[in-house]
Amino acid sequence: MIGFTLGTLWQQHMRGEQLLEAMWTRGCRSVEIHFHPYRDDFADALALARHAMDMGYALTVHAATDGDFNAVHYQARPEPVMRAHRLLLDEVENLAASYGQAVMINFHGGQGEGDRDELVEAVRQVVHQMAEWMEEDYPHVRGAVEILPHDPLYQRIGDREEDLLRITEGLDIDRFGLCWDMGHLQRNRSLFQYGGPASEEFVRRVVHTHIHEVDAEHRDHCPLGRGVVSVRSDLERLVQRGYQGVFNLELGFKEASLYGDPVEELCRSAEALSSMLQSLRGRV
Ligand SMILES: [Zn+2]
Repeated sequence: MIGFTLGTLWQQHMRGEQLLEAMWTRGCRSVEIHFHPYRDDFADALALARHAMDMGYALTVHAATDGDFNAVHYQARPEPVMRAHRLLLDEVENLAASYGQAVMINFHGGQGEGDRDELVEAVRQVVHQMAEWMEEDYPHVRGAVEILPHDPLYQRIGDREEDLLRITEGLDIDRFGLCWDMGHLQRNRSLFQYGGPASEEFVRRVVHTHIHEVDAEHRDHCPLGRGVVSVRSDLERLVQRGYQGVFNLELGFKEASLYGDPVEELCRSAEALSSMLQSLRGRV
C-alpha cells in the first residue's frame, strides 16, 4: 500500500481534505498524520484523521517528539513521560477502535546528554512498557520506532540501527517493529559516514517506511528522482522479503517546492513509487 505524510506545511498550502482527495486519485490508500495531544491543534489533527478514515484511508500516527515525548527523559522523570505516552495511546486506541481498524504509531527514540548506554536503556524501557500496555489495553494499536537523522551536536538515540535493535529486542514485531526512514539512513552514511547499510536483521524487523531521497546538497525529504541515490535498491530488499507494510512517502513541503510545484512533485513521486514497486514485484 502506498501512503504519504500530510505535514503541517502541506496543510498551510492546501486544505488537508483536498490533498487527501488528490492523492487518493493517484492510488494512495494510507496517510501519516502528526499527533501532539498537548497542542492546541490536536483537535484539528484528529478531525483530519477521521476525515481520512471516512474516505477509506489507512492511518499512521506520527508521534510527537518533544517535551515528555522525548523518551530519554524517562529516567529523570518517569511519570510525566509515561503519562504523555499513555495519553497518546488512549487517543489512538479510541480512534482506531471506532473504525475497527489497526493504526500504527510511529515513535522516535529521543535525544539528550550523558551516557549513551543509559539513554538507550531509558528508551528501551519506555518502548517495552508501551508494548506491554498494547498487549493488555490497546488491541488496535501497533508501534514502530524510526531510524533518526544523525546530528553530531546531540546524543540522538535511534540514529543507528544498533540502538533500534537493542530498543526493540525481544518484542513481537507484529506489535512493535522498526520504521525504515530511507533518506535518514542514506544521509547518515553519505554526509557523516555514520552507521552502516541496513542489515538483514534490521530489514526483517521493518513494519513501516518513510520514503524520500537525499539530493546533491545533502537535503533529505526530497521527491523521488531528485536525489543522488534512488530508493529502488532499498525497496527491492523489502519486496524480496515480502514486506506487507505501508510504503509511505515522507516529502518535505519546502524540499518538494525546490523542484517545482510541491503537489505535483508529490503526485509524481507516488506514481514513480507505484511503478517501481510494480516492476520489483514482477521480478519476485
Ligand atoms: Zn521519517
